[in-house]
Amino acid sequence: MRLLGFDTVIAESGNPQQWLRICNLQKRILLTRARKSDKLKAFDKIILILSDRHAQQLNQIITELQPGDFHIFSRCLCCNRKVYPISKELVIDRLPPKVRERADHFTHCRKCGKIFWKGTHFVAMLQFLSREIDGLKGANLEEFVLTEFC
Ligand SMILES: [Zn+2]
Repeated sequence: MRLLGFDTVIAESGNPQQWLRICNLQKRILLTRARKSDKLKAFDKIILILSDRHAQQLNQIITELQPGDFHIFSRCLCCNRKVYPISKELVIDRLPPKVRERADHFTHCRKCGKIFWKGTHFVAMLQFLSREIDGLKGANLEEFVLTEFC
C-alpha cells in the first residue's frame, strides 16, 4: 500500500480493540485477513482481505477503495513518511559502490533517513504493478511516480 502512496500504518502488535481505536482516531480503514469477530463487526470501516496473494489483495483493496489516483514511491516503505528528492552529493557516502556508479537521482525519508533510487527493486516493482494490478495493467507507470527524481 505504501508503494502506491497510501498512508499506511502496519499493526504489528496489539489487539483488535487497539487497532479499532487507532482507526477511529486517525480516520483510517482497517485492512485485515482475520475473520470478522464480534468486536470487528460493529466497525464499518473495514476491508476483509480474501486472498493470500499480494496482487489479488491489492486489486481487492483498490476495487473497494476506488482511490482514483496513485502516488507511486512517494512514501518511505519503512516508516510511511513522505519522501523528498535529495542530491547525490548529500548521500554519496551512504551509497553502495554500484549504486554510486549507476544512479544519479535519489529520494530520502526525513524521519528514518532511508535513501531510495531507481534501481532493480524500483523497476521490478513497477513491472509487478503494470502486470498485476487492474487499472494499472500496461500503463506507463513512470508517469504515476509522484516524486520528481531531480
Ligand atoms: Zn522512513
